[in-house]
Amino acid sequence: MDVVAQQDGQDHLTTTTEQGRFCVARCSCGWRGPARRARSQARTDAAAHAGQAASAESEPL
Ligand SMILES: [Zn+2]
Repeated sequence: MDVVAQQDGQDHLTTTTEQGRFCVARCSCGWRGPARRARSQARTDAAAHAGQAASAESEPL
């Protein structure tokens, strides 16, 4: 399964969806990545999004 679950903070459950010849990363928060030719690239986008969201949440106020 192409799902990356984040343990803490809000849910960022990312998946990859195929759209024609392209693959797009999507997240449960509503985020959507750019269309990629390779699924591996879409998964990288998803991982980067989830990682950024997690690091942003852990930033002290
Ligand atoms: Zn998200």
